[in-house]
Amino acid sequence: MIPYGRQSISQADIDAVVEVLQSDFITQGPVAPKFERAVADYCHAGFGVSANSGTSALHIACLALDVGPGDTVWTTPITFVASANCARYCGADVDFVDIDPDTFNLSPAKLADKLARTRREGGRLPKVIIPVHFGGQSCDMAAIGALAGEYGFRIIEDAAHAIGGWHRGEPVGCGRFSDITVFSFHPVKVITTGEGGMAVTNDSALAERMARLCGHGITRDPGLMDGNPDGPWYYQQIELGFNYRMTDIQAALGLSQMSRLNEFVAGRERIAERYDELLRDLPISPQASIPDTRSAWHLYVVRLDPGRCARSHREVFESLRENGIGVNLHYIPVYLQPDFRRYGYESGYCPEAERYYGEAITLPMFAAMTGDIQRRVVQALREATTDARS
Ligand SMILES: *Cc1c(COP(=O)(O)O)cnc(C)c1O
Repeated sequence: MIPYGRQSISQADIDAVVEVLQSDFITQGPVAPKFERAVADYCHAGFGVSANSGTSALHIACLALDVGPGDTVWTTPITFVASANCARYCGADVDFVDIDPDTFNLSPAKLADKLARTRREGGRLPKVIIPVHFGGQSCDMAAIGALAGEYGFRIIEDAAHAIGGWHRGEPVGCGRFSDITVFSFHPVKVITTGEGGMAVTNDSALAERMARLCGHGITRDPGLMDGNPDGPWYYQQIELGFNYRMTDIQAALGLSQMSRLNEFVAGRERIAERYDELLRDLPISPQASIPDTRSAWHLYVVRLDPGRCARSHREVFESLRENGIGVNLHYIPVYLQPDFRRYGYESGYCPEAERYYGEAITLPMFAAMTGDIQRRVVQALREATTDARS
């Protein structure tokens, strides 16, 4: 089966991990801070806080922005469940803003409508909005940032797909229009640490708070303590935190992968361009981008055009899988999950997201994908959508 995504591990990556294993510290040593610095520098952000997953990083980002019971967080329904769960971990409510049918990202126009409607009706405005850069393609952060000014919400960019992507001449993560940006380093993502994630920000207070939340809420800074330290061994837990730390083993892999990030994104871009070219005459539409952005191309997703396609979405999907093409579907609208429906969401809540769900297919995309593999994928898709056997 040709996978939809796959990590690329070099000998240099392996050597970097082995070096940590043979050193004094396999966690809480010098490498995680180096990885944090490398990621923050890459995306022109002030600070990086590493975590043991992207999900953990989203959780501490919400907590650092004081998300709690009685608050509402809005995100897109076309995302991984973690983008919504992070708010629920904090006891907050989650709501969803429908997508743009062309970019598959949270629609700034629908966001503006929903905010205006909520204010008009005296509803609860969101404390935080979590736009997701779907597939690596940046949302229109300038538009969402302008609404944040008007309605007073904070922004966490879920950039789990988007490390190495650009928006308005700056890297995703620079924080021009947001408070915190979160990356994931799961093996299917653009770079990997096995499991792992990072939150980047330009706000030193937010960075310190997130780092503390990753380490049980414990501080060794006398300035933050209640009373004076008992002695040099002393620490205090000043709020409830977690053990969300990334190990130095993971960070070593991440640091080594960072040196390959530009190469990875350039390779993904070439694959995407080739798909665009090869799929031009098929009854599908690829993801559209907004001007002045560069996708990190975590995913290459197409929508079938039901009017022009010889077979149903499900038949096309099954036919591809039967032909050894490990296609996938990103994502099932989050609010349709039983654990979200319990809050009263019903089918039809975000019509564009549901229409998208009935048409979307994620094609394979990974660093080691050769032209031959790609032509096999395209041929299988051609047969599945046009019923042409050749
Ligand atoms: C992968 C992913 C996450 C979670 O990252 P993990 O590192 O797997 O915890 C969050 N949001 C989105 C959009 C993702 O794709």
